[in-house]
Amino acid sequence: MPLYEYRCRDCSHEFEALRALGDSAEGIACPQCRHEEVDKLHSTFAASTGSKDAAPAPAGGCCMGTAA
Ligand SMILES: [Zn+2]
Repeated sequence: MPLYEYRCRDCSHEFEALRALGDSAEGIACPQCRHEEVDKLHSTFAASTGSKDAAPAPAGGCCMGTAA
């Protein structure tokens, strides 16, 4: 099960919680103040912006031009 990071909207406490894939932050409560509104932080392996290797797929698909 992946480990996600959350930040409490009330006290800004950051904590980690194990959640099943695709789960939202529902049911997660801040361990410090028990506030239930938390923001899910991006996981370390899923940072999406600024990646040099993330080349966009060419328009038209990947298999065009080889089939007669
Ligand atoms: Zn809190």
